[in-house]
Amino acid sequence: MAVSLAEAETVRTVAILGSTGSIGTSTLDLISRHRDRFRVAALTAHRSVERLAEQARQVRPDLAVIGDPGLYGALRAALEGTGIEVAAGPDAVVEAACRPSDMVVAGIVGASGLRSTLAAAARGAMVAFANKECLVCAGDLMVEHVRTHGATLLPVDSEHNAIFQVLDVAGRDHLSRLILTASGGPFRTWPRERMAAATPEQAVAHPTWDMGAKISVDSATMMNKGLEVIEAAHLFGVDEGMIDVVVHPQSVVHSLVEYDDGSVLAQLGSPDMRTPIAYALAWPRRITTPSQRLDLARVGALTFEAPDANRFPALRLARAALREGRGAPTVLNAANEVAVAAFLDRRIGFLDIAEVVEAALAHTEHAPPASIEDVEAIDAAARRDAEAEVGRRRA
Ligand code: MG
Repeated sequence: MAVSLAEAETVRTVAILGSTGSIGTSTLDLISRHRDRFRVAALTAHRSVERLAEQARQVRPDLAVIGDPGLYGALRAALEGTGIEVAAGPDAVVEAACRPSDMVVAGIVGASGLRSTLAAAARGAMVAFANKECLVCAGDLMVEHVRTHGATLLPVDSEHNAIFQVLDVAGRDHLSRLILTASGGPFRTWPRERMAAATPEQAVAHPTWDMGAKISVDSATMMNKGLEVIEAAHLFGVDEGMIDVVVHPQSVVHSLVEYDDGSVLAQLGSPDMRTPIAYALAWPRRITTPSQRLDLARVGALTFEAPDANRFPALRLARAALREGRGAPTVLNAANEVAVAAFLDRRIGFLDIAEVVEAALAHTEHAPPASIEDVEAIDAAARRDAEAEVGRRRA
């Protein structure tokens, strides 16, 4: 869908799915600084009912939805007399994506965001896309769905947003390689024996990015980068072999694009999610953000190293799943969600996460999904197999 610059100047209405999470909170922070440019049409949250009510009282959306139906009464009571429509349950989250708005911010974590993201695409909306698990578990179907309905996916993930910005300027002709940067996470320099005893607290203490628990653990295993390789393949229509990963601990270069003539173009900035979110929110214009300005002299050195395949097997598993195709990425994503939750609950160790995913990839049936129902069936089977594997490993 083409958006003229004049259209981008008018007030844009935005629905925010997952408004109390890390992406949602940063989005609302930007909107509060640009009230003349944006109006919030809907907010949804999974269980953080008090936070959702507080946000709704501030930005006055038409609709506020809590995903957990048991919290409907609490939300209704908290928003009594405000005139804001209140709803609850998974179908109401999808409904929030279906209501008219120029843009939907897809900030729900995990495959549970799939239906609402598809619903937003189905009405041809602009989707500021932060829910990488959706593209991993339903990649080909989702790309096809977006194309059929003329929707626009605007990547919010910092690496993909960097590539998107480069392509906006330099174009897609003669593209030869995408280079995703990875911080390496909190265990970048840890030996395997130390990683085996890593606690959830250590795994979520990310050195450069402030993010939610699930993505922080994914960053520690480097599964996050594996999911991002799959996300990039779908977003930019390139093969696995055209996507490289390089570890860059300062998180200043957010990703790079190489062209046929050997030129490499990159997007840089301080590690603050408000910059990529702002680019998606105002695209194809730019808006100001309070992100710290990049001071390269102060940063001093930018360093790069190859990822260690032995200590971070998740990256290899994700690449293999992408090459295999069929339902393999769906299995990878579902098993990883189960394994990360089990690790955060202290039911398995840190190194078990990738092993649980590998076991599910070996055991779960994954014929090519022909529909979203097929994706959901493979997802459910992979979750059962991964839970069984977690049970076998439990101390
Ligand atoms: Mg990222």
